[in-house]
Amino acid sequence: KPTLTITNLHVSVGDKPILRGVDLVIRHGETHAMMGPNGSGKSTLGLAIMGHPGYEVTEGSITLDGEDVLAMSPDQRARGGIFMAFQRPMAIPGVKMADFLRHATTNVRNPERKEGEELIPMREFRKELKGKMEHLRMDVEFARRYVNDGFSGGEMKRAEILTMAMLQPTFAILDETDSGLDADAVRLASESIAEIGREKMGLLIITHHDKLLEHNPPEFTHVMLGGRIVETGGSELADELHTNGYDRIRKAHPEAD
Ligand code: ADP
Ligand code: MG
Ligand code: MG
Repeated sequence: KPTLTITNLHVSVGDKPILRGVDLVIRHGETHAMMGPNGSGKSTLGLAIMGHPGYEVTEGSITLDGEDVLAMSPDQRARGGIFMAFQRPMAIPGVKMADFLRHATTNVRNPERKEGEELIPMREFRKELKGKMEHLRMDVEFARRYVNDGFSGGEMKRAEILTMAMLQPTFAILDETDSGLDADAVRLASESIAEIGREKMGLLIITHHDKLLEHNPPEFTHVMLGGRIVETGGSELADELHTNGYDRIRKAHPEAD
């Protein structure tokens, strides 16, 4: 099974150490929930996995089936099958969702493709996009809108999920939007992730919402505190934290906070 292995990962932003020794193994087919208070380093972990500039790995390793992910550019990581839905996605005014998806899908399916080389044939792509949008019960008009331009929180989530459905990544990291998502949007996102088939990916869901996990019960739940994973459990740990918050965790790990 494809495996993403993170070992003793230390990450700094500027001169500030944020992650302080993260160990995490995600196998294909597994769903992992990453929880933890605001500012504990959850987004930083995702961004470091994707190779976001500004997130400097100062120690440790990330490998994908033994290959050194840290030696890859962000584009190579994406073409290698790692996908991240960002907490604050970028708008690309002037680029329609459908065109963006056709480029992204082509690049992931032909990792050797160079800019300017042929894209997936339009008819074939349209058919697949339409099928996926129908499956996710999305209005086909949505594909004609500019990427994230004036999207509501719920629409950004829909765009991410459609992108994930098209790219069919080996590993997907979903960073939960902090705000702007109402309960219906979260429930829809949860259902859609389940429909794409989480067993077809290794999934890391960063979330505060129990609703997002409703249709995707995690086999593993991790708690980040002060840049370290301080506890790992099953879905019962996610349930506990959703009910009781992080007081118990903070008391149990005063050194981490
Ligand atoms: P979480 O996602 O758990 O809320 P983050 O990973 O976003 O936490 O942030 C962890 C810490 O790193 C916070 O103290 C945050 O201020 C800091 N941090 C993250 N990204 C940046 C950045 N680009 N510039 C400055 N500080 C950052
Ligand atoms: Mg945050
Ligand atoms: Mg975050």
